Amino acid sequence: TRRTASMPLKPVTSLVPDDIEPATWKPPSHHHNFTGDSRAQDLFAEAIDAQRRKGETYSILYPGSDDFEMERMDMWNHDSICTPCLILQPSNKAEVSSCIRGYTIGVRHCLKENRRTGSKLGIPRLCVSGGRCSMHTFTEWAIVLDMSLMKEVTVDVKKRTAICQGGARVHDVDMVCGRHGLMCITGTYQELGIVGCIIGGGYGYASRKHGLAADNVLQAEIVLADGSFRYCSPRKNSELFWSILGGGGGIGVIVGVQLKCYPLRNAALVTFDLLAPGARWKRSVLRNWNRWIMGDEGPIEDEEMGEDDESSYQEPKGAPMEVYSQLILPTSSGPLSFVGTSVDPEVIPQDPDRIKQFNNMMRMKSKWGVFSVNASRDSDSYLPAAWSRIPGLCDLHSHKLGAAVRSNMKFRLVRYFDQLQSLSAQFHKPGNVFIAFKYAKTLSPRIIAVLVEATAGKMSPKNESRIFISTLGGEISEVPKENTAFDARDMNYVIYIEGRWNETKKPSRDEQERKTTVAWVRWVCSQLHLCEGIKSTAHPESSRDQVSKSGKSKPPPGWYNFSKENGERLDEIKKYRDSRNVFAFASRVSWMKSDGSGQPGGGPDSTVFGVEDTTRSDS
Ligand SMILES: Cc1cc2nc3c(=O)[nH]c(=O)nc-3n(C[C@H](O)[C@H](O)[C@H](O)COP(=O)(O)OP(=O)(O)OC[C@H]3O[C@@H](n4cnc5c(N)ncnc54)[C@H](O)[C@@H]3O)c2cc1C
Repeated sequence: TRRTASMPLKPVTSLVPDDIEPATWKPPSHHHNFTGDSRAQDLFAEAIDAQRRKGETYSILYPGSDDFEMERMDMWNHDSICTPCLILQPSNKAEVSSCIRGYTIGVRHCLKENRRTGSKLGIPRLCVSGGRCSMHTFTEWAIVLDMSLMKEVTVDVKKRTAICQGGARVHDVDMVCGRHGLMCITGTYQELGIVGCIIGGGYGYASRKHGLAADNVLQAEIVLADGSFRYCSPRKNSELFWSILGGGGGIGVIVGVQLKCYPLRNAALVTFDLLAPGARWKRSVLRNWNRWIMGDEGPIEDEEMGEDDESSYQEPKGAPMEVYSQLILPTSSGPLSFVGTSVDPEVIPQDPDRIKQFNNMMRMKSKWGVFSVNASRDSDSYLPAAWSRIPGLCDLHSHKLGAAVRSNMKFRLVRYFDQLQSLSAQFHKPGNVFIAFKYAKTLSPRIIAVLVEATAGKMSPKNESRIFISTLGGEISEVPKENTAFDARDMNYVIYIEGRWNETKKPSRDEQERKTTVAWVRWVCSQLHLCEGIKSTAHPESSRDQVSKSGKSKPPPGWYNFSKENGERLDEIKKYRDSRNVFAFASRVSWMKSDGSGQPGGGPDSTVFGVEDTTRSDS
């Protein structure tokens, strides 16, 4: 049975590790139910502890201790709350190396014991955990290498670079860089781990202008499966460097990265809601939005346009590189939400005082109507920044993207590092979620039909679940393909499908809700896979995508996440750098095989050191 935060679970009292003094032993919590093999757990704990005693001091957290409970419950996604075998918390790279060595010795001890006694001890997987957002790191009965103590960030203001430890989150980088008026390309959600972003590509508000997080890594340091360290950069260990840039991970533990920084203090933010009741209006909004981003791709049928769009609207040439936008499609009857930002320092005043000035003037405007919204556009000239003066966003000043009604329109001048970067926290509240990611080249009629059916049709769960569509393109498409393992340069959108369900006091009802929501996410993915111009991402979530149960039918093209060339290259690097598949749990690398078998190529197999996986299955 899956566990959620509020489900009462049986206490386990028999797991007090031998080496813990009674004085320091805390009473076991009542919130966990360790179901793994305690003999295997002992063998791993002993092996890791023996390594630790060689001079390291990191914590090994056991089920039942308060610290263990605090860590395992500290999840954004409540559906990911589970009971790992052990949690290891290194605070420097030597300790990471010690953890990995301890783990591999533990595997050997288990195998030896199996051979000696004929027992069948399961081997827990090693999961590296960064920002804990992917649902793939804290897993049942796994040994978690928790990087959360390694979150230091230092900035070299002169060189405009930042060095981040492997457990730093977007928030940590923003806070340090923001103090110096700088920013790094990361993700739009501050809880995400920096490394998690980089190995998945990493798109942020400024990615259309400066590329992905992966495009802005200057060098990295990695601990390999044998515990050795490697620096990598475009010149040194270049194949290793290439593989971590959007390659999905699973080759080692990244303990540090050096990132490029860009000067940016303030950004422009436009938000509004679009009332689009029913499938027809939703289709209309998606088509108009796509047209605004991609440029004029042919006439829009009249019936698809909102009737009272103002005539001042100019035919779009495509949104500029400085402009990022996102459309959020609810599955409930609520309006669609639009978020548009610009990071163009040419038109957005960068002086820190300008935000205060802007806010004061906006207050006066709403109080006295001095600069009435309905007055001529000249009234905006008093303001340090105005919607109508931001290239790209100004197209939407009087255009409601084909919706029936537009409401809650807001234009703001915001600080990048905290006000803009924390914006998405309001959309991604903690709770029970099941997620999937897809890339799309354009919002073709078929893709729009799937998205509309998923949110407004019979398949819609009509609850908190939503689909977020964000723009890629711009500089992301310009970076030479061979620079990184990231393989979706021609994609202009990322589609994030977020299935959500509320917790009730009835576990059976929760389980049913979960099943329905997971089925919805999978349905959306399987329908999208069939559309032309869809590609799977390299995020760990992509490994949850299902093909046919028998494995006999050929997966549709959208199922694969790498081209044949990059897939094969990643597979080679994986075999060379992690031949025993120690980091098997990290990602799926799949590409179309040329032998016509139709089966996915490469990817971690289901065994570690030749032993069956015993971690939980998500089906
Ligand atoms: C709500 C939400 C919003 C998102 N928004 C964005 C966005 O705006 N932009 C974007 O690019 N992506 C976004 N994503 C996707 C996100 O980048 C991936 O889910 C990513 O895997 C999360 O990384 P994490 O470190 O937080 O998660 P984790 O689960 O901790 O880690 C994810 C993967 O990275 C590996 N990993 C983590 N740290 C290390 C390390 N130091 N060394 C080696 N491997 C490591 C883990 O083993 C795991 O395979 C979003 C995801 C969610 C859930």
